[in-house]
This record gives sequence, C-alpha cells and structure tokens, in this order.
Amino acid sequence: MNRILYLFLIPFVLFANEPLDIVLAGDPVLRIRARELLPEEILSPEIQKLIEDMKVTMRAAPGVGLAAPQIGKPIRLVVVEDIYMDWFTPEQLKERGRFHVPFHAIINPILTIEENSNQLEFFEGCLSIPHFLGVVPRAEAVRVECLNERAEPVVIQAKGWYARILQHEIDHLDGTLYLDRAILSTLVTEDNYKKFWKDKTIQEVKDCLQ
Ligand code: ZN
Repeated sequence: MNRILYLFLIPFVLFANEPLDIVLAGDPVLRIRARELLPEEILSPEIQKLIEDMKVTMRAAPGVGLAAPQIGKPIRLVVVEDIYMDWFTPEQLKERGRFHVPFHAIINPILTIEENSNQLEFFEGCLSIPHFLGVVPRAEAVRVECLNERAEPVVIQAKGWYARILQHEIDHLDGTLYLDRAILSTLVTEDNYKKFWKDKTIQEVKDCLQ
C-alpha cells in the first residue's frame, strides 16, 4: 500500500516547481539592461515555466516582487504579488497605501511617473541584498504599459505600495538597485530595523540617521 502511494506521488515530486537560486548584489547580471521578450517567446513552454518558477521563488523568499535578472535571466520579465497584509498594522497599511495585489507577470514594461505624483519615503529591501533595508523616495503614482503572461497588452495604473513595488522591480530590468536611489545614511540591518525603526516615522528615522 505504501509503495503504491509512493509511486503515485513520484510524478508530482518530479514536476513540482522548486524555488530558484536568487542572484545577489555583485553579480553582473543585476547591472545590465535586460532584453525585451518577443510575444511568441512569452507563450513558449520555457517562459511559461519560468513564470511559474519565479512565482514559487518569490513566495518561498518571501517577497512581493521578483525580476528575471534576480534569478540570473537578463530578460524584461517581472512577477508581483502582495499578500502580506499582516506584516503591518492597519495604520501602517493605510499610510503606505498598501493593499492586496494578486499574482501577475509584467513583461517589456514602460513605466511613467504620473503627472503631479507625490514623492513618498519608506524603508525598502531587496531579495538580492538580503538582511538590509534603506529609506527610498519613490513616486506615489505610476503608469505601466506592458504585456501580461498571455502576451496581451495591459495598462496598469498603480498608487501607493504597489507603485513602489513596480518602480523597484522595473528598475531591476535596467540594472538599477534600490541602493542607487536610497538615502544611504538610513541603511540598516534587518535586526536593527526591527529593534529601532519599525514603528518610527520616516522623519524620526531621518532625524536620527541622516
Ligand atoms: Zn530587488
């Protein structure tokens, strides 16, 4: 009986998506301009599997976005999903404009900052620079024209934290890391972020660290 069950499970184990290794800062792939994908490439089994693999990798990390260069592929493909509403208090969620964003892929994006958009400053981290966070000014509202995972054209109008995620991930496709845009004196380790800064306002953080 056990052997039958074991044999039954083997195909699922063989075909299950495993998290991919995340490339860390210092790898040249994080500093080059990634190339566009052709619509027929997007629909290919290889890219469809890569999107699934990136979803599994992002969830395992866990993270709210992952760009293809971060798994060593210099192509203009990003996955996004924000389901971690319990990381913050309701007040912090409201302040960040943070809400549930379902999983989706973004391909060949063109990002535009919305006219009259405010600049907002919050702590940000990156799976390719683990265990650190820094305050990064970002536009509050952006528009992204791109293709989705079915190679269909899509226009995304995003505000708040979703707009921040899009700016961070699309930066990866042009070889830009959040540290290039961060207020470097606010760079903190994850442990010190939790110990000293998690519940402080950004102004309090800047008053102490800048
Ligand atoms: Zn990143």
